[in-house]
Amino acid sequence: MIIESDLKLDFKDVLIRPKRSTLQSRSEVDVDRTFKFLHTGGEWTGFPLIAANMDVVGTMAMAKALSRFGAMTALHKHYPAEDLVAFFRDTDTTNVFYSLGTTEADYDKFQHVKAKAPVGKVCLDVANGYTERFVRFIGRMRTENPDLVIMAGNVVTGDMTEALLLAGADIVKVGIGPGSVCTTRKMTGVGYPQLSAIIECADAAHGLKGQVCGDGGCTVPGDVSKAYGAGADFVMLGGMLAGHDECEGDLRYEERDGQRIPVAMTFYGMSSDTAMKKYAGGVAAYRASEGKTVEVPYQGPVEGTMQEIMGGVRSMMTYIGATKLKEVAKRTTFVRVGAQLNTVFGG
Ligand code: 5GP
Repeated sequence: MIIESDLKLDFKDVLIRPKRSTLQSRSEVDVDRTFKFLHTGGEWTGFPLIAANMDVVGTMAMAKALSRFGAMTALHKHYPAEDLVAFFRDTDTTNVFYSLGTTEADYDKFQHVKAKAPVGKVCLDVANGYTERFVRFIGRMRTENPDLVIMAGNVVTGDMTEALLLAGADIVKVGIGPGSVCTTRKMTGVGYPQLSAIIECADAAHGLKGQVCGDGGCTVPGDVSKAYGAGADFVMLGGMLAGHDECEGDLRYEERDGQRIPVAMTFYGMSSDTAMKKYAGGVAAYRASEGKTVEVPYQGPVEGTMQEIMGGVRSMMTYIGATKLKEVAKRTTFVRVGAQLNTVFGG
């Protein structure tokens, strides 16, 4: 029996230590990054945040809204092919990922859409990125689509990050079990603390000139800053972007002062009972659901949340004296904490 006894950390276990700096104000910092991709040679510039390819948040409306902030969206994979063709044809999709799993049906649909519309980026998404089959699938996608930016995951260790990059991925998605509506840790006992996963996978990826996307576990803007501090090139968000006008969740209304107003919206994991019933006719007998269904407060347009997130990142940068987002990881020193938030008036 091998027990790894190095301490592994989550976002909640650390804070970022402030550093002396000459920066005067948040407006002096630049939250955009420019990346060259490992296999495609192409370049992308923007705010490296990605809406998760989940039913409720990975929507076409979200893609349009986030793109105005230079941020990206991984579309969920349940749009009909013709809707995707129309979207990729008619919209500027620089900031959009087409998502697919590894089934033949997913692959055929992708080929069909790509033949009719320009798709520049894909998100190859499986719950467990550790299978040989997944590595082979990435290899096939790379060989057949040399110009495609491929983000693939999920994994949580340096060895597998390297394997996916070498197989053909440009960006490796990191995170097993940290998600807001994920029950993988509870159902399987498998996982890895997300901050440490990002640190270790980023080290491995940067050694090969690839990138990582920290996926899952961000609950407040400060967690997004910590993910960048840990070395995440991109950060993917599900729960923090749920409950907005751009989402495709069911709204719940309440009567207030004679008016019907939206108060909450459904949000669910992609392996929850809700998702499996919707798309696969129920939970197959051999597997357990690994996702929750929840209600989140209705939050209006996503613009307000994006301003909060970007404002938080800018402010973090002034605290540590980073003019550019690229410098953040180098200028970050984490301090381990026993408690990070004052909860006297609630969480
Ligand atoms: P969040 O930002 O909500 O904490 O995490 C979003 C991420 O959770 C997604 O990008 C995806 O990787 C993961 N996720 C989404 N649905 C499920 C699910 O049903 N089960 C598990 N294990 N993870 C999920």
